[in-house]
Amino acid sequence: MMSASASLLAETPPDIPANDEREARARRLALKHSGEDALEILRVAIKEEFPGRIALVSSFGAESAALLHLAAQIEPSIPVIFLETEKHFAQTLSYRKKLVAKLGLTDVRDIHPSKEALTFRDPSGDLWKHDADACCTLRKVEPLAPALDEFDAWITGRKQFHGGGRIHLPAFEASPSHIKVNPLVRWAKEDIDAYYEAHDLPSHPLIAQGYPSIGCWPCTHPAAAGDDVRAGRWRGAAKTECGIHGLTRA
Ligand code: SF4
Repeated sequence: MMSASASLLAETPPDIPANDEREARARRLALKHSGEDALEILRVAIKEEFPGRIALVSSFGAESAALLHLAAQIEPSIPVIFLETEKHFAQTLSYRKKLVAKLGLTDVRDIHPSKEALTFRDPSGDLWKHDADACCTLRKVEPLAPALDEFDAWITGRKQFHGGGRIHLPAFEASPSHIKVNPLVRWAKEDIDAYYEAHDLPSHPLIAQGYPSIGCWPCTHPAAAGDDVRAGRWRGAAKTECGIHGLTRA
């Protein structure tokens, strides 16, 4: 005769961890849709796979207008999350306003770091000088996690040509908490430039001053000709990513 616990085990269907299910779904979506163009990948994600449960995270940086323009064609009311780190260039904030108005986006959300956490962990506002990882955690990673709680998936603008850990990016990938959609993975710099021209999209004002990639002002510098596109980010440090792509909220 089976013990009570053995009987329970026998009757309980195998429990598939949510992470495994998410991984399998991301792999299936990547296999099915990787050969499609960016607009179709976005349409599938926004309209078919995650209707009402997907957001786009944008820095309103050097390449952001292309992805925002594509998404606005499908769903101008898609939630767009902007991490307002309180360390952005004034030019980024004015560019954000201009783009939102031009593209007709209706649900752009400014996500700020917690005031209490700032007071306690970065009272003088210069944590970036001493510990950039801790500063990104405070101003980006921690605020983003709750902002994404209501969604099953989010859209990023990362591309393989950015190099580093991005060179093998798939169009769909799983994180421990979400599926991430990367519609522009296969785009090259020339594709971005052509898209801006074809759709008369305004450039971020700092591009003309030699910034090919734009984040917070303390950690963004102009790049020299021939440098990688992200060479001016955290220049002189081993750091290459802010940490939001390693979000581990379950
Ligand atoms: S990019 Fe720099 S200023 Fe912005 S959150 Fe990270 S360390 Fe802080």
